[in-house]
Amino acid sequence: MTARYDTRDGIAVITLDNPPVNGLGYQTRRAVAEGLASAQADTGVRAIVLTGAGRAFSGGADIREFDSPLALAEPNLLTLIKLVEACSKPVVAAIHSVCMGGGLELSLGCHYRVATAAAAIALPEVKIGLIPGAGGTQRLPRVLGVETALNMIVSGEPVRSEVLAALPGQKLFDQIIEGDLLAGALAFAGRVAEHRPMPSVRALKASHPNPDAYLQFARNTVGAMSRNFPAPLACVEAVAASLKLPLEAGLAEELRIFRPLMSSPECKALRHAFFGERAAGKIPDVPETTPQRPLAKVGVIGAGTMGGGIAMNFLNAGLPVTLLEMSQPALDRGLATIRSNYESQLKRGKLKPDILAARMALLSTTLDYAALADADLIIEAVYEEIGVKQSVFERLDAVAKPGAILASNTSTLDLDRIAGFTTRPQDVVGMHFFSPANVMKLLEVVRGKATAKDVLATVMALARKIKKTAVVSGVCDGFIGNRMIEQYSRQAGFLLDEGATPAQVDKAMERFGMAMGPFRMGDLAGNDIGWAIRKRRAVERGTLRYSKTADLLCELGRFGQKTGAGWYDYAAGKRDAIPSPLVEQMIAAHRQELGISPRRIGDEEIVQRLVFALVNEAAHILEEGIANKASDIDMVYLTGYGFALHRGGPLCYADSLGLYNVAAAMQRFAANPHDDGEFWRPAPLLARLVAEGKTFT
Ligand code: NAD
Repeated sequence: MTARYDTRDGIAVITLDNPPVNGLGYQTRRAVAEGLASAQADTGVRAIVLTGAGRAFSGGADIREFDSPLALAEPNLLTLIKLVEACSKPVVAAIHSVCMGGGLELSLGCHYRVATAAAAIALPEVKIGLIPGAGGTQRLPRVLGVETALNMIVSGEPVRSEVLAALPGQKLFDQIIEGDLLAGALAFAGRVAEHRPMPSVRALKASHPNPDAYLQFARNTVGAMSRNFPAPLACVEAVAASLKLPLEAGLAEELRIFRPLMSSPECKALRHAFFGERAAGKIPDVPETTPQRPLAKVGVIGAGTMGGGIAMNFLNAGLPVTLLEMSQPALDRGLATIRSNYESQLKRGKLKPDILAARMALLSTTLDYAALADADLIIEAVYEEIGVKQSVFERLDAVAKPGAILASNTSTLDLDRIAGFTTRPQDVVGMHFFSPANVMKLLEVVRGKATAKDVLATVMALARKIKKTAVVSGVCDGFIGNRMIEQYSRQAGFLLDEGATPAQVDKAMERFGMAMGPFRMGDLAGNDIGWAIRKRRAVERGTLRYSKTADLLCELGRFGQKTGAGWYDYAAGKRDAIPSPLVEQMIAAHRQELGISPRRIGDEEIVQRLVFALVNEAAHILEEGIANKASDIDMVYLTGYGFALHRGGPLCYADSLGLYNVAAAMQRFAANPHDDGEFWRPAPLLARLVAEGKTFT
């Protein structure tokens, strides 16, 4: 059983008890229904208190039941809420900590609600592409007013109970309890036990002084903010029904709107991302019980683009950081950048002055490696050259204390080789942050062949502390994300050779849902970075076929925004990408040299060639065991590369199209003489999945 039942002085107490957050799974629902029946049958019971054990009142539906028939097994949540509403004795919800989704909907079926001041109240269904489906869109407007309810339902964000309880005219909370919640709830229940008729949200009306104008305003604003996602507008329509219809009809309308969302591709994508985020933290052979190393002090080497941002992550989490550079001017520059980043947050009202001061006080700087001797974790973000990495790791090996974790932020270099520069390869790990490192969610944790399990466990836990999505990658050139992006960029280059313009490619990808097309991304990150990588790779593994346009661009010194010109032109001090006649001429001249006559290329081909290039490389990465699971690859792309969230990541998207169709398109691309036919041979894993009628995810 997953709810407890007992009685105290004539009051029955039903306590949801389904860790971790009292999800309303089948067994829990049954136990509550049985509790209600017992309380009604017991003539000694005058009223009922419904509460939650542990860390929540209830977090809502039990996510372990998603996609299982158990989610709908009777008593389903709608039935349970009806049982509560129809109970012959008053039911008081005693709310604390977390009251979300189905948990809030259940409490709205109760006759009374009391809460602690700091409970987090939310209907977060929109975040997984749904609307609340158990009466939330009909009952919340009846107790909080249409505007407050709609804001909560469309955003999915939690609001503190005391904030809601302070709203004029609100009927969500009957009392905010100070001190012991259960004692307060029992006392409250005792006071109202004999009151008849019992109040019911069902009897309230939702109203608005100017409903048509308000709803039109809501449709316009929500529609504009939620391009690509149907759920937010569906929330507006469901709440609109609460204004027009009696409760029963409103509930039917809610269900009518809810059902098709359940099977929409956007809902599937959002759920994939939701579970992918949780799954990314789990490493098959590193159980959650793996001991962790102590982590109280951090060292960062290199105060350039990455080092400064990396340091900020730890300062934000309250960990002291020592920043090391080669020279005082470099150190001063790095420190000034960190300070100015914080000051701009201060100006935007995102940071308070005392917090800024506290964070800066945690930061110390040095030119001397000896200052890193007591650090528990040292991350290097020095130049991307193996010789420089070697000298840094040899010095670290000499000064770091035994057991200190030695991490590299390298984007492409061989982590095992770097580990080999030390006498303690088991302590070496990759922590590949993305730029800007204090903002981007993704952290690729690179597992070397010697990396110890407790090092991995420590770094994964640290990632949670600094609010990153950590994904484990094995060692290969570019790890998961950059290895895939190489194929994506290569296709973008071939498209230029064949007749497309940078702006056309970017627009097609942005319409597909990418935060930024490949050429705008190149201009932002710096085209010289890819140039240097291509040169290194040409030496290491022979020349891979590329469009030469990217090299020609760099030979013109057009590195991107930082040089005021790249694939696009930029007005001084502005970031707007203006198509460049010079670049178009350069591309056309190169095309002529290749003897290609340009053709019109449609958006669909652009999107498919770029995205399927990611998919085919991802299939190799999975098969080689570089990534542990398909959802890890999707999380890398959603959190590090601005991949369209409503598509769920490249592999979720490929699955939604059907892998048979994806492989068939690859075969068509292979026949294009200006493309790399060899690359387009479907990866063995992909071919196998097609043959077996299976999917990646
Ligand atoms: P950067 O040139 O901006 O900064 C490097 C800094 O390291 C410089 O300030 C330099 O003075 C310092 N440095 C060099 N050698 C040193 C040494 N021996 N001891 C101490 N300090 C030293 O470079 P960056 O863009 O910050 O890149 C750093 C690392 O991060 C590279 O390995 C790069 O591949 C990786 N990386 C970069 C990005 C990015 O977008 N820039 C993203 C992810 C990873």
